[in-house]
Amino acid sequence: MVTTLMTHSATESALVAFAKRGGYPLIEIEADLPEDQEWVFESNSQLMLDNIADQKIIISKAGNIFTNTPSLQHIQRAKNALNNTLRVHENNMTVYVCRTSVMELIRQQHTKKMAERKGLIHSGRTEAQILMETIVNSALVEENVSDIHFFVNENTGKTYVQFRKDGILTFRRNSENKSNIWNSAEVMSACSSMINTDAVDEGSSRKTFNTNEAIDASFTLSVACGVVKIRYAQVPSSYGFKVALRLHRDGSADKEIKDIGSMGYLPVQCEKIDEATESAAGIVIISGPTGSGKTTMLYCVLRHIPDTKAIYTFEDPIEMNIPGATQVRVDNETMNSSLSWAALSKNALRLDPDVIMFGELRDQEVAHEAVNMAMTGHLVLTTLHTNGALTCATRLNDLGISYDRMGDPNLLKAFIYQRLLPTTCPECSIALDDYKASGKNIKRLAQVNTLFGKHQKVRISNTEKNNPCSVCTGGVNGRTLVAEVAEIDHAARKFMSENKIIEWETRLLENDWISINVHAAVHILQGRICPMRVNGSLSEPITAQHIAIACRYLSGTTKNKGLV
Ligand SMILES: [Zn+2]
Repeated sequence: MVTTLMTHSATESALVAFAKRGGYPLIEIEADLPEDQEWVFESNSQLMLDNIADQKIIISKAGNIFTNTPSLQHIQRAKNALNNTLRVHENNMTVYVCRTSVMELIRQQHTKKMAERKGLIHSGRTEAQILMETIVNSALVEENVSDIHFFVNENTGKTYVQFRKDGILTFRRNSENKSNIWNSAEVMSACSSMINTDAVDEGSSRKTFNTNEAIDASFTLSVACGVVKIRYAQVPSSYGFKVALRLHRDGSADKEIKDIGSMGYLPVQCEKIDEATESAAGIVIISGPTGSGKTTMLYCVLRHIPDTKAIYTFEDPIEMNIPGATQVRVDNETMNSSLSWAALSKNALRLDPDVIMFGELRDQEVAHEAVNMAMTGHLVLTTLHTNGALTCATRLNDLGISYDRMGDPNLLKAFIYQRLLPTTCPECSIALDDYKASGKNIKRLAQVNTLFGKHQKVRISNTEKNNPCSVCTGGVNGRTLVAEVAEIDHAARKFMSENKIIEWETRLLENDWISINVHAAVHILQGRICPMRVNGSLSEPITAQHIAIACRYLSGTTKNKGLV
């Protein structure tokens, strides 16, 4: 411990006597104030607060004790408080004994900092906080709003706010000026109020708001209609910065996720998924674009694994709770962290797992460990970014798992690919027969008529700008899942080991496989998805073969149940 004596005070002789009494060395320094101290003022320790209030002792989070009352008893009390509340080690404590005027400067600095912070978080809510709470609350009261976007332009001072609802972004009006324009300075302080409060989850590293930096944080916000967990992502841009807030409604996951069927998988697909996830060992991959509900699907599968098995999940971030599972938040930011993807995947086997979920198979190292786990008798669930179930094989090969290796009967169990497509509003949609196209839609309508013309139930979304419908946005009233499930059987392994992915798909379709296009065709034939808008959302256009398979599926005359 170091004791510093700031001299030249009226009580100099008292300070010298004190240092001598305590056996502390005497160091004479200029009365410069230590910079950037985080002051203790929210401590639960009444002892500390008393000391601050009577200004005899101020203690800081850095382990510094400032006093103008050189009493051993006072110092000891402050040390105990530092040690008990902040766990500052004895060796890291520094005692500054200073004259009254220096103490007064420290006190003023301390008071100013407290006022600044209290202005943000303690003395009621600031206007910035109220603005953010109002925006988040209005997103929560509307159904299906998943994200809030802020385009903050610091040059023009104008900000645009958008809500993503059913996958589609729409501008939010500012009721105060009755336009789509929001004040950048106000939105910026609203963002700052979220990032700089203590609400940032302990699990994520603390961030300081700075518009020139990328920020990734998560925290819980309490607003009028409830509590919501928020993932905050920010990047600087040429005009200012952009923020995307992902909303995780409290408890909604528990209510919504019941079984895979209720997510939109067809019964034949559910069977294949159940079979794969009931395996004791092997890899099951869930694939799809960002925002396709891959994580929800992973959680859904995990919840159905019995609690007699040891389940570990490695995620970044943890989005929902799974009862009975050990959920670990991955920290890939800290150098050499024991919680990095690489470190966790290496150590996972020592945790005696049955089932391991990797939020993402992000690099060769993790892919290698996943293969190792599967081959040593564990079930591994993970996600990939691909544009189809079968191309998971191509992606695995990119990650260093050879096609030859994929032929191993113990390694792979199923490739699942899913995405969400907008559903047609039943209130305002138009029967295909009655639909009149104009402009660039004329050619598209001709194609749609060739494919679907004879099917009576097909409906077209009303995308007219003047559509007066009150239950939808632009003819769309939600999203539905379309998916394909590739079971890894003997034939699949043979196609993979020979790298014949196209031939594999041809063979599956010959046997009435429900590919994602077939699944989409099933929805179109039932009037749930608009055929005019579907092609932009699928990697390949829907063909007559897909429709024929969909028709056979709907009429129960599918060729080969074993392969769908
Ligand atoms: Zn409508």
